[in-house]
Amino acid sequence: MYIVMLGKPGSGKGTVGKMLSESLGIVHISSGELFRSYSKKTGKIGEEIDSYIVKGNLVPDNLTIELLEKRLLETDCKNGAILDGFPRTVLQAQTLDTFLQKQGKKINIAVELDLADQEIISRIVKRRVCSNMDCGEVYNLEFKKPKVEGICDKCGSKLIQREDDTIETVQQRLKNYYETSAKLAEYYKKQDLLYTVKFNLQSNKTSKDIAQEIKEYLNKEML
Ligand code: ADP
Ligand code: ZN
Repeated sequence: MYIVMLGKPGSGKGTVGKMLSESLGIVHISSGELFRSYSKKTGKIGEEIDSYIVKGNLVPDNLTIELLEKRLLETDCKNGAILDGFPRTVLQAQTLDTFLQKQGKKINIAVELDLADQEIISRIVKRRVCSNMDCGEVYNLEFKKPKVEGICDKCGSKLIQREDDTIETVQQRLKNYYETSAKLAEYYKKQDLLYTVKFNLQSNKTSKDIAQEIKEYLNKEML
């Protein structure tokens, strides 16, 4: 099964995607994490990727598609994948559809997490991530605090703030979202594949509740 996670930066699609990955037994692929793993390595591709990410700009489609398709051909993706952050443009979505079609596969559902902008900004600025790339657990200083300040509950590594989680970059990322990624919901809606979860901080819905709601929908609609 292929699930696409849609939503603004910081809407929680990474956390929810990881939860779904664990409960459905399908690999979780985050384009942002994939890019950050390249940018940690030295070399041309890493430097090029970094130059876009630090400014909050999108990595160009051709490079994004090349690296994501390469990742999707690895053996752990043979039963499908939860795609988080990819596709992010209509061109990426169309190319992905063709790529899957050639293998007799298709996207089964696109899940959109819908959270208001003012809540996005406060969430991202309070976000902390595990510095251990193999762990990558995500925390929030307000509603998902680590047990020990500054330390990852899962692996004991130091927590850091992502370089692109500043107010300026977040505003640029939100702008990109409205200019390009927002059209994706429409793209999947036309194919009757869109499932939207609307929430706000007052609604007190946790990522766990949202993952559960999506799983119930999947059980009802497609399993
Ligand atoms: P967020 O969704 O919180 O902005 P991600 O970790 O998904 O963060 O992505 C971080 C950065 O990586 C983005 O701001 C963008 O520069 C780049 N990126 C991730 N996915 C894509 C994509 N599909 N196409 C182009 N650029 C991407
Ligand atoms: Zn960790």
